[in-house]
Amino acid sequence: MANWPDWLPIKNALRGNKIYGAPQLQDVVKLNTNENPYPLPHSVVTELTSEIASIATSLNRYPDRDTVKLRSALANYLSSKHVTTENIWAANGSNEILQQVFLAYASSSCIGLSPSYSVHPLIAQITGSEWDSLPLKNDFTIDLSALLTRIEETNPSLIFITSPNNPTGGVVEFKELKKIAEFIKGRRTLLIVDEAYAEFSSEKSAIELIEDYPQVAVVRTMSKAFAFAGARVGYLVADSNIISGLKIVRLPYHLSALTQAAALVALKNVKLMQSEIQIIVTERIRLREEMTKLGLRVIDSGANFLFFTGFQPNSQELWQSILDKGILIRDVGIEGFLRVTIGTPEENEQFLNSLKTSLR
Ligand SMILES: *Cc1c(COP(=O)(O)O)cnc(C)c1O
Repeated sequence: MANWPDWLPIKNALRGNKIYGAPQLQDVVKLNTNENPYPLPHSVVTELTSEIASIATSLNRYPDRDTVKLRSALANYLSSKHVTTENIWAANGSNEILQQVFLAYASSSCIGLSPSYSVHPLIAQITGSEWDSLPLKNDFTIDLSALLTRIEETNPSLIFITSPNNPTGGVVEFKELKKIAEFIKGRRTLLIVDEAYAEFSSEKSAIELIEDYPQVAVVRTMSKAFAFAGARVGYLVADSNIISGLKIVRLPYHLSALTQAAALVALKNVKLMQSEIQIIVTERIRLREEMTKLGLRVIDSGANFLFFTGFQPNSQELWQSILDKGILIRDVGIEGFLRVTIGTPEENEQFLNSLKTSLR
C-alpha cells in the first residue's frame, strides 16, 4: 500500500491501490508480458519511417477524431462479411477500449470470471464500477450454468469473458458464448468478449455473433499477434449503437496521427507482421510437451503463453530461481502457478534449461 501525503486529495477508493504492472527489467529474456518476440520486419520499418516522415509536416493539425481510415483497414483485416467501418472502434490499446466501455456502459454491476485478465476488475475499480467475480471450475473452464444464474440474480450491465483466457490460456467454445448471447437477449446487458489472443487460437471468433446478437462486443488488440505492442493500438468490433456510446466518453482526438499512420502501415503488411504466428503456435505445443515430461501440469492453451503448476519450490522461489538464470516469466499471484510467454525457439530452450535446473 502506498504512503500518501496528507495534502494529497487521493480518492478513498484508490487509497489501497498499488501501481499495476509487471517488472520491466533490462538484459533478461522477456517471457512475462505475452508480447510477440519477433521484431518488426525490416521492410515494414522502412515503410513506417517514410510514412511518419510524410505526415510529420501536418502534425500542427489534430488527427482524424473518428480514425476512419484505420477503422476501415481493421474491418478489411477481419474480412467478415458483416463487419464494416461502422462496426469498428479504435483506441490506444485494448485497455483504453475497455476503459471506454466501463465509462459508457457500467450502469449497474459488472461480472467477470476468475482467474482472468486482472485489468478488467482494475478498470472497474478506477472508474467507480461495481465488480462481481465468479470462479472458473477447477480445470479453469467456465461454469456456464452458474454464470447464467448469476446474471439472472444480479442483472449486470457488463459481462466479461476472455477467450483465449489470460492467464490460463483456456478457450471458450463459440457455442458457449452463443448460449450467453442468447440468454441476455432482452436484458440491458452487454457481453464483452476480450479476444486479445484470438489469432493464436483455432476457435471461431465471437465476431460472428454480432450480426445476430448486437449485445455482443469483441475487444481485440494489435499488441500480441501483430507484434505491435509498443504502438498501442486496440479495437472493438460491435454493433454501431455500442460505438456511439464510446464516442461520448472518449477524449477528443484520443488516437494520435502518428499511431493511426503506424497502424495503417502495419495493416497494409498483415502477412509479414503475422508471419511468425505459426512458429509461436508450434513452439507452444512443443514447450507444453517438454514441460509435461518434466512432471508439470500445463493448462491447455489457445494463446501465446502457458500456465503451469505441479512444481516445488513455491511460485515465488521458482520465479526467482528462473530469473537468476536470466529469464523473466510471470507470477500472476495465484499460488502454485506461473505463466510463461512463448518466445523464439532459442528463448524457449533457455527457459526449459532454467526450469530443469530450478525444479526440485
Ligand atoms: C494484453 C491484453 C490486453 C491489452 O492489450 P493492449 O491492447 O496492449 O492494451 C487486453 N486483454 C487481454 C486479455 C490481454 O492479455
